[in-house]
Amino acid sequence: MRGLYASGVRFVSDSFDLVVIGAGSGGVRAARIAATYGARVAIVEEYRVGGTCVIRGCVPKKLFVYASRYKDLFEIAPSFGWDVGTPSFDWATLVANKDKEIARLEAAYVAGLEKPGAEIIRDRATVTGPHSVKLQKSGRELTAGTILVATGAHPFIPDIPGKELAITSNEAFHLEQLPHSILIEGGGFISVEFATIFSGLGVNTTIVYRGDKLLRGFDEDLRTGLEAGLEARGVKIIHQTNVLGLRQTGDDVTVSFSDGIDAPFGAVMFATGRSPNTSGLGLEAVGVELEEDGAIAVDEYSQSSVPSIYAVGDVTNRAQLTPIAIREGHAFADTVFGDRPTAVDHSLIGEAVFSEPEVGTVGLSEHDAATHGDIDVYVTRFRPMINTLSLKSDRMMMKLITRADGGEVLGVHVLGPGAAEIIQMAAIPMGMKATKADFDRAIAMHPTAAEELVTFKKPSYVYRAGVKQP
Ligand code: NDP
Repeated sequence: MRGLYASGVRFVSDSFDLVVIGAGSGGVRAARIAATYGARVAIVEEYRVGGTCVIRGCVPKKLFVYASRYKDLFEIAPSFGWDVGTPSFDWATLVANKDKEIARLEAAYVAGLEKPGAEIIRDRATVTGPHSVKLQKSGRELTAGTILVATGAHPFIPDIPGKELAITSNEAFHLEQLPHSILIEGGGFISVEFATIFSGLGVNTTIVYRGDKLLRGFDEDLRTGLEAGLEARGVKIIHQTNVLGLRQTGDDVTVSFSDGIDAPFGAVMFATGRSPNTSGLGLEAVGVELEEDGAIAVDEYSQSSVPSIYAVGDVTNRAQLTPIAIREGHAFADTVFGDRPTAVDHSLIGEAVFSEPEVGTVGLSEHDAATHGDIDVYVTRFRPMINTLSLKSDRMMMKLITRADGGEVLGVHVLGPGAAEIIQMAAIPMGMKATKADFDRAIAMHPTAAEELVTFKKPSYVYRAGVKQP
C-alpha cells in the first residue's frame, strides 16, 4: 500500500521487505535492484540522495580536477599556436556550475529509485531490532524483512588542539573563496587529489605527511613519479612530520609542526582517512558485531552477525571505493531478493588517483610481486606527445610486471595523462589471467601512450629468488 493518497494525505505502509539506511552509491544500487526484483523497499537518508561520491566526493572532485588542469593546458597552448592572453579563474562560477551538475545527478538518482517503486524517506534511522527501524524526525517505526546499512564513512580528524579550525574534503567543495595558501595533512588519495586541485587553481599548496613518501602501498615508481610531478607543479611536500596543533592568527591558521616549526596558512585541511558511520545507529544494542574501528563485520555476502542485517560500502572494512560499494549493493540484492547468491571478489581492484600526474594501478606492486616468485619488469618513461611541442618536461611512466619469462601479468602501473582510462582496460585481461604473449597479441594503436603496454620487447630488469637483476 505504498504511495497511495487518501483525502490529500499520503498513506504509507510501515512494513517493507527491505529498509536501506543510507542513499549513497551502495544503498541506492541495492534498493533499486531489490525493488526491480519486486521487493517492497524503503530507503532512509538524512542528507542528500547520492551519498559521498555524488554529493561531496568522486564526482565534484573530478570536476574540480578538470578545472585545475586548465593551468597546464594554458601553459602549452602557445606551442600549438594559440594565444590565450592572460587566463583568469573564477572560483564562484566553478562552484555554482558544479552544484548545478550535482543537483542534476541527485535528481537522476531519485528518479532511478522511484521508478521501480522504492520509497525515499528523508529522515535519520536507528535500528531498534533485527527487523525494526525507528525514524527520528517523524517517530515512524518501520518493520523490515531485511535491513541494509549503507551509511558510508566520514572524514577522520586527528584529536589535536585547534582541530575545529581545519576543514576536510566536505567543506572544500563549498569554500566561499579560495585561500591564498593551504596545508593538507595526509599522504593518501584525498590529499594528493586536493593538492592537485588547489595548486592548479593558483593556491600555494603544501602537503604534510607522517611517512617518507606519498601513497603508501602503491608501486614505488608511481610514488616517486607522483611526488616529482606534484613538486614540479609547485606543491611543497613535507615528510615525516605531523601537525601538533592549530591556532587562529588574524585571517590565517598557524600550524605547529612536530619538527618544532610554526607557520601560518590561509587554510588547513585534514585528509587523514575516513571512519565508518556506525555511531548512534543502535547496531551494537541489537547484536551487530563491529570491528575495532567501528566498521560492521560482514561475511562474503555482506551479512552481519545478525542474519537479517546486512551492510555494504564504506561502513564495512573492505575497500573504501564507490565501485566496490555499488558492486556489493548489487550482489546483496541479487543474493537476498534475486535468488542468486553472489559474493563480491575483492581480490583484483584497479585504483585511480586523479592527481596531476594521474595515477592508475591494478594488480601487484613491484615490491609485492617480487615476493610471489620470479618476475620480469618492463618499464618505460617518455614525454607525453601533448608536451613535445612545448618546454614542459613531464615524463609518463608505464610499468608491466609479469611472472618470469613472459608469464601471467601480475601488475600494471601507469603515471601520466589518461592513466585511469588505460588501467580500466588493463584490468580486463588481468582478470582473465592474461600473459605477456596475450598483451603482445594486441596490435599497437599508434600514436597512443597505451601502446607501450603491448610493445615491450625485453624486460628492463628481472627478479630471481627475490633478488633484482639487470
Ligand atoms: P587514505 O587512507 O588514502 O590516506 C590517509 C592518509 O592520512 C595516509 O597518508 C595516512 O598515513 C594519513 N593519516 C592517517 N591517520 C593519521 C594521523 N592520525 N595523523 C597523520 N596522518 C594520518 O585516506 P583519504 O582520507 O585520503 O581517503 C579516504 C578513502 O577514500 C581512501 O582510502 C580511498 O579509498 C577513498 N578515496 C578514493 C579516491 C579514488 O578512488 N580516486 C579518491 C578519494 C578518496 P599512512 O600512510 O602512514 O597510513
